[in-house]
This record gives sequence, structure tokens and C-alpha cells, in this order.
Amino acid sequence: MKSIKLFSIIVIMIFANGILKAQTEIPPELLEIFMPASGSTIDTNTTDGMAQVSPYCPRLSPWYTDSSFFMINPNSIEKIVGVNFFIFQKNDGSANFQEDDTEHIKIFQDIEIALNNRFKNLRQLCGLVNTDTKIRFVCTPIFVRNSDLWKGKERHLWAQAFEATPGSPNGINVLFFMHEDAYVKNVIENDSIKHWEKEWNTLPPSTTFFNVPYLYINAPNLFVKYHWMKNWATVQYGLPWNPAIYGWFIDGTVKGLAHELGHCFNIRNNIVPQNYCDSANIMNPVGSSSHDYLSDWEISIIHRAFAVTTARKYVHDQTTLDAPLVITDSKFIDFDVRLYRDIVIESGAQLTITCKVLMPSSGRIIIHPGGKLIVDGGILTNACSDKLWQGIYISGNADMPQTAQYQGVTVLSLLTMKIFLPPTTLLLERTLPCGEFWACK
Ligand SMILES: [Zn+2]
Repeated sequence: MKSIKLFSIIVIMIFANGILKAQTEIPPELLEIFMPASGSTIDTNTTDGMAQVSPYCPRLSPWYTDSSFFMINPNSIEKIVGVNFFIFQKNDGSANFQEDDTEHIKIFQDIEIALNNRFKNLRQLCGLVNTDTKIRFVCTPIFVRNSDLWKGKERHLWAQAFEATPGSPNGINVLFFMHEDAYVKNVIENDSIKHWEKEWNTLPPSTTFFNVPYLYINAPNLFVKYHWMKNWATVQYGLPWNPAIYGWFIDGTVKGLAHELGHCFNIRNNIVPQNYCDSANIMNPVGSSSHDYLSDWEISIIHRAFAVTTARKYVHDQTTLDAPLVITDSKFIDFDVRLYRDIVIESGAQLTITCKVLMPSSGRIIIHPGGKLIVDGGILTNACSDKLWQGIYISGNADMPQTAQYQGVTVLSLLTMKIFLPPTTLLLERTLPCGEFWACK
């Protein structure tokens, strides 16, 4: 009697495990339908063109190409990144996900949850240190009725205009439009044969055109895939829509989206093997992979993108900061950079800024006695156009002589210090030289 009981428990466990697997792991041949076309990045031009924009930004500082300057660690602060899901319907509001359908709304909520989970809990492979990328997404579904946009016509220009509209939510543009042929055959005619290709792709960020910064992901036919999965994958795999096939649909969508977001953050398909490490990599363009791993090297590329490319625009302002950038000798910043930390200049150290530095609203530059900050043709401003930053703190002793031995020093030559400068404005505006002085008054 006892052995029978044990046997039945084992059978139940195996059966339960089988169900669990069926519910959580999408079959490779199905996953392919969510993955992008290989080599699908639209524009591979990430030429460092800022050097031509301003002689003050030649990018000669070793920090510019030093991944450790931008890299996070397991104690770093999370960066919140905005994502806008544009769901383009026809003029009459039909032919895509619906704003008043609870399942459709839940899909976008579940995509957000799964996306965050993926970037928070990477698979532990190849000695990965940062299993948490410290990237979190805030996703906003936006339903748009426009038949031209529905079939993808001039959607990029529209997204650019939307992004430039005051008060619009700040987010990477994910464009859920449709290929008409796939929609007609798979949704209207409910054909069991799949009529779409692997077709998602992405515009990577620019280090040049900060005056026209916008990122977009082309994500056609998601609604077609949803319709097909619900009507035909359930039949072909003999599984219920919810939770089994629904789970696959969310999982497949998030794998494709995570891959494309990787491109938005400047990581590529074709990366060198020692950095790529494993086929589980999110940037593996082949569908039959778990897509839940990124190398530390790739993570450093992403956080560098949040500092020196247009991708930084989509990172929300931070009220808590990473450990400060501490200057202990002579350093210079001659590149356009957004920082997520304070700068501390120690006694005897010197920092020269000739280009643009965007500070967090709670950020400040602290200069200790004997430390020196030189701003020569540079701009110090806030990262978010509607906010201040905390400014320069020159520490010293008011009772002691006003010399560098006892006081911090700021040298402001060709100073331009803009507090409300929008982050999209180029740094061509300057004031007259104001020379060297002790403690700004
Ligand atoms: Zn790719």
C-alpha cells in the first residue's frame, strides 16, 4: 500500500512538472515567430560625431571609452526607463488591441511585469556579476486611431512629433502597427497558416544628434500573433489558451521586446564570443534560446548608452544616487555625458570640464579645500529640463585665508552655466570669460 502511494506521488510529480513546463516554456518553433529578422537593426550609424559639433568635446578623455566609468554594481541604484506602447487602430477603432478589453489591457501589464523580471533576474552564467541589470521599465499603452499609422505609414515621423509634444509621456516608442496582408488573412479570414515573417527591428541610439533624439522599435503584427495563438496554437498544441498558450504569448513577446530594447541601448547581435558567452543571451537573434542572459560587458554598454547616447533621454530623474565620482588627481571631461551621481573633488585634485555634463536633480559637485574645478567652455546643467540640480558646493573655512590651501577653488573660464537648459539644446552658447576667483558670489 505504501509503495503504491509513493508511486502515485511520483507520477503526479512528473505529470505536474510536465504541465509546468508546457505552461512556462514556449516551443522553439513558436518562439521563432516572435523573434526579429537577423541583422534587423535599421541604422548601424553610431559614429561619434560630436567632435565635429564642438571643439570643446573632442572625446579624448580616457573615461569616454572606459566601460568601468559607466558600469553599475549590485549596489547601484535602479534606472527607470520609460516605454510607450503605441497601439495603432484603424480610424474606427478596430483592427488591433482594444482599450476597453480587460484581456488586452492585461497583456500589456503582463508584458511590463515579465520585461522587468527579465532585466532584474538574469540567468547566472559565465560568472555573471550583475544578475540584476538595474534597469526597470515603466510602460504606457497608448491607443491611437489612425488607419495610415495602423499600416505603418510614416509612423516614425508621427512618433517623433508625439515625443516633441509638451506633456506627452517620455518613453521609447514601441510601434504596434500591422501588415495588412497578415491581418486580413490571419484575423479576418482566420487562416491557420501564419502569414507574417520575423520582422521586428529597431533604431539604435545616436551619440551625435542630441537635438533630434528619439528611439523607436518597429513591432508589427503583435495583434495578429495574439489572434493566431489564441485560435490555432491552442488547437495545434492541445492546450488551453489560459494559462498555457497565453503564457507563451507573453513570454515570446517579451523575448522579442527585450532583444529590441537591447538594440535601443546600443548592444548588437554580432558581438564577440567571449562577451556573448552563451546562446541564452537576450541578443541572440535565433529564436530557440531562453533569452534571459546578458554579459557584464553588455550591461556596461547599456549603462554607457544611458550616459552618452540619446537613450539617456528615456531614463527618469533619480532622487537617490550611486556612489559619487571621486576625483583624486587631475582628470577632464571633454564629452557630452549624463551622470547619475555626485562629483567629489578631493584636496589637491583637479577636474576640468570642457563639454556638457548633465546632473541629476539631487546631484551636486563638492569641492574640498585644495581641490579645483575648471569649467572651460563647458555646460553644467540638469538632466531633466523641468528641474534644477543642487549646484557646486565649495567646502572650506570662512575664518581662514581665501587661498587654495584652505578653500575649494572653482575656475570658470568661458562659463556657460544653464539651469533650465533643455537637454536637447546644443552647447554653442557661451558667456564672456570671468576669470579665476574664490567661491562664486
Ligand atoms: Zn537583433
